[in-house]
Amino acid sequence: MPLRINLRRLIVLVAFASAIIALANTFYATYRVQRQLLIDTTLEANQAYAHKLAGSTEDFLQSNRQQLAYSAGLLARRFGDASALTAEAERLRGQTNSFNSVLIVNARGIVLAVSPETLALQNSQLASSGALQALRERRPLITQPYMSTAGNLVIFISHPIFDASGNYLGYVGGSIYLKQKNILSSLLGQHYYRDGSYLYVVEQRRRLLYHPDPGRLGATAGANVVIDAIVRGESGSGSTVNTLGVDMLAGYAVLPSTGWGIVAQRPTTATLAPLKQLMLNTFWHTLPIALFSLPLIWWLARLISRPLVQLAEGASRMDAPGMAERIGRIGVWYLEAAQIKRALLVGMSLLQKKIGKLKSDVQTDPLTGLANRRGMAAALEAWQAQARAFSVIAIDIDHFKQVNDRCGHAVGDAVIRRLAHLMRACSRDADVLCRNGGDEFIMLLPDASLDIALQVAERLRARVAEAEIPGAGFVTVSLGVVSSSEQDSDSDSASILLGADAALYVAKERGRNCVGVRDALVRHG
Ligand code: GH3
Ligand code: MG
Repeated sequence: MPLRINLRRLIVLVAFASAIIALANTFYATYRVQRQLLIDTTLEANQAYAHKLAGSTEDFLQSNRQQLAYSAGLLARRFGDASALTAEAERLRGQTNSFNSVLIVNARGIVLAVSPETLALQNSQLASSGALQALRERRPLITQPYMSTAGNLVIFISHPIFDASGNYLGYVGGSIYLKQKNILSSLLGQHYYRDGSYLYVVEQRRRLLYHPDPGRLGATAGANVVIDAIVRGESGSGSTVNTLGVDMLAGYAVLPSTGWGIVAQRPTTATLAPLKQLMLNTFWHTLPIALFSLPLIWWLARLISRPLVQLAEGASRMDAPGMAERIGRIGVWYLEAAQIKRALLVGMSLLQKKIGKLKSDVQTDPLTGLANRRGMAAALEAWQAQARAFSVIAIDIDHFKQVNDRCGHAVGDAVIRRLAHLMRACSRDADVLCRNGGDEFIMLLPDASLDIALQVAERLRARVAEAEIPGAGFVTVSLGVVSSSEQDSDSDSASILLGADAALYVAKERGRNCVGVRDALVRHG
């Protein structure tokens, strides 16, 4: 038989496998959920943060523009007063603290007042792109970053000055030096985290207005989904890769007045850093229940497999003595085991019956229903083993050949059956009655003395002799009687039977229809 895994191991294996799959699945799901949660939280926080900073930057720009508009109103009335212009330029730079420098320029582009004076631009003609744009457009504006006349990378916020009759006088404007300490850097620069998070501000032509790396100020940012969205005027959040190739989670918001985009971003690795610890925590929380469930699974597997294991053992040794009772005692607590148990017991009892029937068939003479030679041998063997005393009566029908010849074989058979019937009538339950073959019979009488056996033999002889058998008339039998107690103590059953035969021979010799014992005729009918 091929080596097969047993049921309990199989159940344990299946249960363990499913527990491990479920556990792994839980871990994986937890990992995915936690990871997404961390990412979503960061994206949301960054977006909220970008929004908040965009709001305050927008407020700051608005207030600057209002300051400039207010100054433009004042200056229109005092445009000829050089000292008033200088004072106003000083006031604007000093009080607002928003601009790195303030200029008041006339309609021809000549600087009338400048603060700080160290710039030495007084009376000079400005040719920078911001200055020319202000002159050209004659409206409030915030320029793109450009290189100023004094050599600074600036953005310039200006407001036109018109006199009471609407003539263009010039403009007042403030510059923010991107590469020096400025209001943007003080507004945004304080928000810098250690884990690689940072902010930057980009304008519509993708140039960086603010960046924690001063070297990149004014540079044009590369292709980037976040900057693409800002250029389209969209605020939002998403994953991106920065110039250094680092994965970032970015939140971004666009300033309505300028289209500048403020981007708050954090490296994805920094966001996911707590994930390992979270998973470790999940593992430690799962462990006690997992450990508890292992013996539980083992115990359940044992409980489920036990009845089947016992039934299988019983089935494999069905012929062992008392096996049916042992199978009957097996506790079955679920349907299938109960069904198998019942089927096994029913099968065994049928088999026992069949075997019993075969056994008795093998030991029975079919014509008379008496024991045959095998049945007789089995009884003798048992008695011999028990050293039980017994007597033997050997019986033979007289001139049976003639009965057959005269009346036919069927009548002969009827005579044989009749004799069997009379033998039963003359015997006790414990006696073993055999047909020894042909017209010879044996009666084995356990615990019967020779005398008793002689009485039984004589009674049988007399009843046979007086019974008329239809078709055959009267027949007689000769009988030989012997007792085991007469024999040598070491003589076997075969020699006792031979003794009975010899006694029968005596009866035949003495004329039949009589009972013989060894060497003597007891009675004649
Ligand atoms: P004896 O008195 O010396 O015993 O004479 P017998 O004619 O009985 O002689 P024997 O024992 O030699 O003959 C037995 C006969 O029994 C021979 C056989 O034809 C017959 N016989 C044996 N078995 C059966 C049987 O099953 N049915 C019938 N009808 N006859 C059988
Ligand atoms: Mg005979």
